[in-house]
Amino acid sequence: MRFASIGSGSEGNGLVVEAGATRILIDCGFGLRDTAARLARIGVAPESLDAILVTHEHADHICGVPAFAARHCVPVWLTFGTLTVAGDRFSDNERVYGFDSHDAFAIGDLEIRPFPVPHDAREPVQFVISDGAFRVGIVTDLGTSTPYVEASLTGCDALVLECNHDVALLAASDYPVSLKARIAGRFGHLDNDCAGTLLAALDTARLQHILAAHLSQHNNTPDRARAALAGALGCATEWIGIADQTNGFAWRMLG
Ligand SMILES: [Zn+2]
Ligand SMILES: [Zn+2]
Repeated sequence: MRFASIGSGSEGNGLVVEAGATRILIDCGFGLRDTAARLARIGVAPESLDAILVTHEHADHICGVPAFAARHCVPVWLTFGTLTVAGDRFSDNERVYGFDSHDAFAIGDLEIRPFPVPHDAREPVQFVISDGAFRVGIVTDLGTSTPYVEASLTGCDALVLECNHDVALLAASDYPVSLKARIAGRFGHLDNDCAGTLLAALDTARLQHILAAHLSQHNNTPDRARAALAGALGCATEWIGIADQTNGFAWRMLG
């Protein structure tokens, strides 16, 4: 099993997970040609994808999905709630499937276990993806952690965890007060310290990979995100990977 990011942040997200003969893309917030170029960097042909999973209807996660899915004949999976607000964008795609945010399902060799998260969208989810031997937990948009989020993520072999902002940098930024409140609120985005607290609450005995994701380009730095997660794990900062906006991160192997 392996996974890679084609970019992460408020300007677009996309993550590929692969096991056996199955390859899926989680979210696509990039345009058609940009997505193909980003996938090419990790050696993935667009038409080789078996499915696109969508976490929620925010543009940085969904805006590239309708055109990409139609162009390359890829089925799309969204929560029923996301479908109610975004379904009309897929009216010309016959292979669009709804799922319940609490129910696991299979796509080829991968088990998809969604879990609902507090975030300001209709029915947002994040995922734990498993090939039966290893589990990858993915959380890119999370207002605040919950016991259910922690129960979902504990014991994973790899984690991609939102480190959106540094509280002090956000407070000192020139963002409008209302935007600061939205980002820092319970249905906004996870700051570095809260990401560290969440990580510290998990069983990380099996953890082989940890990557900070969805970093704000204005209100965070990779070093601050790394320090927060390394502090929680008691590990060296070099061990913490970064899913950045331009390059994402290269394939990470589990095995
Ligand atoms: Zn986002
Ligand atoms: Zn969002």
